Amino acid sequence: MRPYLSVVIPVYNEEDNLRPLFARLTAVLDDIGKSYEIVFTNDGSTDRSGAILRELHETRPDQVRVIDFNGNFGQHMAIMAAFEYVRGEVVVTLDADLQNPPEDIPRLLAAIDAGHDVVGGYRKDRQDTWFRRSASRLINAIRARITHIEMRDQGCMLRAYRRNVVDNIATSGEVSTFIPALAYSFAARPTEIEVRHAPRAAGRSKYRIYDLLRLNFDLMTGFSLVPLQVFTMLGFAVSFFSALLVIYLTLQRIFIGPEVQGVFTLFGIMYFLVGLGIFGLGIIGEYIGRIYLEVRKRPRFVIREILQSADDD
Ligand code: UDP
Ligand code: MG
Repeated sequence: MRPYLSVVIPVYNEEDNLRPLFARLTAVLDDIGKSYEIVFTNDGSTDRSGAILRELHETRPDQVRVIDFNGNFGQHMAIMAAFEYVRGEVVVTLDADLQNPPEDIPRLLAAIDAGHDVVGGYRKDRQDTWFRRSASRLINAIRARITHIEMRDQGCMLRAYRRNVVDNIATSGEVSTFIPALAYSFAARPTEIEVRHAPRAAGRSKYRIYDLLRLNFDLMTGFSLVPLQVFTMLGFAVSFFSALLVIYLTLQRIFIGPEVQGVFTLFGIMYFLVGLGIFGLGIIGEYIGRIYLEVRKRPRFVIREILQSADDD
């Protein structure tokens, strides 16, 4: 039987958070009074998370399903895998570290009932480090300018989706992607509501600076061609001014004679242009990298085992 609601939770080394999360989540969901399932993806945890998830599955075999990855494929792929298996009419995503309070889920569902197909959350009083918050603000602003995605808080994972949006995401086949942004591109009537945010209950953030950078490159290049186009424009402008400089220098040489001064100015300009060229190659590289990943057609994630009750399909 298909449940009304599926709650999707990616898990990577969250051994101390899983039981408190499960207790709070089931309390909220039981209260709503509609049928539900909870789908955990164990994203290659190396701590006791896998064993705890197995226990949780055994306590409520009909409601708790666990997708066990073969390794660490990242938060967004963990959600993607769950999206391929969820059976609910409405799907809610949530972090495992209790930064998103499960108690806010009924408000997401109310917005879905009001006719929206994607309900995003934006975090009130975001409880992350100053560095993370400022970096997010900057990236959010850039993204807002170069993509058509309107989102107040792209990093918030407490979100609700209608079935057809989830199906579109699951079949999109993208290798490295950003689920909320992808959802937005399939949404007909998206909306956003304010959700609460708590400090991480236990353990530490799984994202290091490098992961955050990568994730944001994926977001920019996966949803916009503007970086390439801006670079082309820049190339035009630079060529134009370089041409002016060459004409000027030629005329100077003919009418005034050769010059030796200003060598360092010229070096300065040279280094600037070389730097610009390398930057441009990098941007092109980002897109080629994405093309390469798509063309290679390797599986996006590998599932070792799925824990679900026997009568499930
Ligand atoms: N996560 C995951 N795979 C990863 C990294 C994170 O499944 O490679 C999960 C993690 O267990 C958590 C959620 O994604 O449930 C958000 O991660 P985290 O809290 O570390 O990110 P932050 O809140 O610092 O952005
Ligand atoms: Mg977190």
